[in-house]
Amino acid sequence: MTLFEKIITREIPADIVFEDDQCLAFRDINPQAPIHVLLVPKRPIPRLGAAAPADHALLGHLLIKAGELAGMLGVGESGFRVVINHGPDGGETVPHLHLHILGGRPLAWPPG
Ligand code: AMP
Repeated sequence: MTLFEKIITREIPADIVFEDDQCLAFRDINPQAPIHVLLVPKRPIPRLGAAAPADHALLGHLLIKAGELAGMLGVGESGFRVVINHGPDGGETVPHLHLHILGGRPLAWPPG
């Protein structure tokens, strides 16, 4: 089981902000911005590049929810960033697809 599956099954505690039948959102334990929430699919996909055509609807659901969640978290107007890290150079540390939703401060571009 991945770390995030253990959060989904409540084996590991987390500050959960949203849940539906397909996904779970919780605050990142090491926030990089005032708002830093992770949105994960309950059906684990290791990383974006491992997603298959069968995941089409789930990926669309996650993106729609990321936008809705940003609004729920109060950064819909001020702005936010959605990040998916893939592989070593991308900075991926947990092999369970997750969208970082970051906001609450101006975010630099390009990223480090
Ligand atoms: P990534 O580096 O893109 O794979 O992102 C993994 C994220 O998971 C990091 O931002 C970590 O801070 C976060 N993280 C690791 N363990 C936990 C946890 N137990 N609860 C919440 N977030 C976590």
